[in-house]
Amino acid sequence: MNDDLYQTLLESTKAIPWQIDWPTLTFSYIGPQIETLLGWPQNSWKSIDDWVERMHPDDRERVVNFCVSQSKSGIDHEADYRALTKSGDYIWIRDVVHVVRKDDGEVESLVGFMFDITERKQNEEALKELNRELERMSFLDGLTHVPNRRRFDRKLDDAWAEAGRTKTPVSMILLDIDAFKAYNDHYGHYKGDECLIQVAKALSDVVESPGLLARYGGEEFALLLPGTDAVQAKTLAERCADAIQALAIPHVASQTAPVVTVSQGVATVTPDATLASYSLIEAADQFLYAAKKGGRNRIESAPAD
Ligand code: GH3
Ligand code: MG
Ligand code: MG
Repeated sequence: MNDDLYQTLLESTKAIPWQIDWPTLTFSYIGPQIETLLGWPQNSWKSIDDWVERMHPDDRERVVNFCVSQSKSGIDHEADYRALTKSGDYIWIRDVVHVVRKDDGEVESLVGFMFDITERKQNEEALKELNRELERMSFLDGLTHVPNRRRFDRKLDDAWAEAGRTKTPVSMILLDIDAFKAYNDHYGHYKGDECLIQVAKALSDVVESPGLLARYGGEEFALLLPGTDAVQAKTLAERCADAIQALAIPHVASQTAPVVTVSQGVATVTPDATLASYSLIEAADQFLYAAKKGGRNRIESAPAD
């Protein structure tokens, strides 16, 4: 291949070729395509400072330090950074660098290609954002938009470990809507969904951080209450019952009351090494069962000692 052919090949690709003379840190060559990409004329790329100055300030230190140290060590490398265009925008560049050394090993020059990777970076960013959104959504209940059971279980594990370390109690309230099958049968599934949304909203207004309200199952909600003793938990359950009562959602098909009511089981455990977090859920579930058995629209919890 003759030199003309080389030049035509180099200057007709999208990748922009360049060469830096290492002892003087000046450009001995840069492809004319650079002007099309960044707007700065080919002959304005004189020293390495032109390259540094046309780099996003947030990328400068990282990229320059990396490229200089790799070059000094004679290691081929690549770096991604944002290059400033003449019109003031930034374009993502991937610079792929080969270090040319003399026979004695001394660095003579750097040669490389700049690739426009803006589109790739934008796609990567969009994908990352989408992943963050999916991660967030995977912890929320689709109907009521309160945290779901997955979120509850994670938080329970964390709270359990923390309470074990600090020897503090963890409480939990399991809350189940009374006669909800009859509600659906009478008012229809759509109204049933609306009822769940209203109940979720009312309950989330009662719970304060670090407490967590989650939709635990169909018409069951769970409140996790770290650092809360049995007395405080029972008070909170009463406030939940009041909040549902205040909604005054008519329920003519209920044997319990003319409005939507809930039954609640309240459990409190101070974890120790022998107890799994599941024991808290089991205890709350047993108290909930007792509340149902005892006639519904009530709270059951361990007797105060
Ligand atoms: P109890 O007082 O003993 O709790 O009786 P119940 O009728 O509430 O309990 P049961 O477990 O028999 O019925 C629960 C009903 O909740 C049945 C199911 O169709 C309904 N349900 C569960 N998830 C949803 C939902 O997302 N939307 C609607 N509309 N209904 C739901
Ligand atoms: Mg139920
Ligand atoms: Mg129910």
